[in-house]
Amino acid sequence: MSYCVNCGVELEPSLKICPLCQTPVNNPKQIPLPSDYKSPFPSESGTVEEVSHKDIRILLSVMLSTTALACLLLNFFIYNSLLWSLPICGISILLWVLLIPFMFPGKVPLWLQLFLDLGGVVLLLSSILCITESSIWFWHLMLPLAFIIFLQAELVAFGVRHLPFSFLIGTLYLNLSAAVICLAINALVSYYRTDHVHITWSAIVLTVCVILSAAQIAVLSRTRLRNIVRKRLHF
Ligand SMILES: [Zn+2]
Repeated sequence: MSYCVNCGVELEPSLKICPLCQTPVNNPKQIPLPSDYKSPFPSESGTVEEVSHKDIRILLSVMLSTTALACLLLNFFIYNSLLWSLPICGISILLWVLLIPFMFPGKVPLWLQLFLDLGGVVLLLSSILCITESSIWFWHLMLPLAFIIFLQAELVAFGVRHLPFSFLIGTLYLNLSAAVICLAINALVSYYRTDHVHITWSAIVLTVCVILSAAQIAVLSRTRLRNIVRKRLHF
């Protein structure tokens, strides 16, 4: 019987190094092992079978469709004073659409995925519209906002795909997108509440984004400056 001289753990006779602390085993009194001796440890490291995308697809589809169906049945047969199950169906469909990149990796191009995401969002908003008395919020606020965010995302996706891309350019896209989306939210909310477009807080966001974007464009346009920033920030 051998013990590790470093950590004291009991060692299996065939071991040449300690499995815990990697100290070499040196026992001069070790009785030679018979030729047919089999080590209790596996000779190859085991591997865990990867979960297939088909299994993920089936699991997610079953979970989401069952949730929607169960809520529909509960709504129609028991709690039927309001069509509350419609938004839950809308959320289930939207989640399924949002999870397409994980279920079908590399199959759906980004522009199409964004279009499908927009469809899912519009479907969810429509399902909420069915159970609300007023439709102004839908037409004047949420639908235009969804379209503006969709167009912005499509523009960024186009830029990432077809124009030269780097960390600095990515942050520039992010800045400009944040400014446009904040402006849109501010304008739409003010129009929804007062029937007038009144830009307030988003002007501050826009100012900050313009300053940051100007600095980024200056860095991008000067190769020497760009290289210095890259070296300092390690990217
Ligand atoms: Zn040891």
